Amino acid sequence: MREALLCTHNHHKVEEIRQILPMFQWKTLKDIGFSMEIPEEGSTFEENAIQKVLFVLQHLPPSHLLAVSDDSGLEVDILDKRPGVHSARYLGNDRNYEKKCHGLLSELAGIPLEKRTARFVCVVAVHLPSHEVLTFRGTCEGYIGFERRGDGGFGFDPIFLPQEYHGQKTLAELSPEEKNAISHRGRAFRSFYHWIQEEGKAHGLL
Ligand code: IMP
Repeated sequence: MREALLCTHNHHKVEEIRQILPMFQWKTLKDIGFSMEIPEEGSTFEENAIQKVLFVLQHLPPSHLLAVSDDSGLEVDILDKRPGVHSARYLGNDRNYEKKCHGLLSELAGIPLEKRTARFVCVVAVHLPSHEVLTFRGTCEGYIGFERRGDGGFGFDPIFLPQEYHGQKTLAELSPEEKNAISHRGRAFRSFYHWIQEEGKAHGLL
């Protein structure tokens, strides 16, 4: 099985990506003892995903490892697509998502369901052994609900109602398999996988 490096400190993402692409032996930053904080200073998901993978590789000895990073976030239409690329830092750098979910629900107080449209976006940046960098984008359309529901997933999952479940379930109420089947991250990583199926041989990946 081919080794690939996943450039994230977020263990929830590691679990999801291992499930979505089990054909790679994913090494994490923890596995290789990389503990530096990774900057994300771009104004688009693409810029941030590329910055993350290049930052990590700059601080490692040169290798032919396939390295992958992702940048993701939640765009709420009526908030001019906020928090967007700043989702991880919404209401501060801590990981108190009960507080962050309540903060977003408060911002949307009084707004009816049809105006609560939102989407999760994920962009995967892949650094190939040839040093070429490619990006793949996936989205998950839905609505921001009116309360937190469910214990699965992470982040804003308890308040996000994916359109595939017609307002009946939040992402946090789905099994990991159900979430991966429709999620922004699932879609972005599967599109990377399809690219590998078609182009991988030519790039020495298969
Ligand atoms: P980053 O991709 O590490 O910059 O973090 C993106 C942020 O967007 C996360 O910290 C969450 O706040 C949010 N986010 C991204 N993907 C998801 C998801 O699948 N579920 C819930 N929240 C997410």
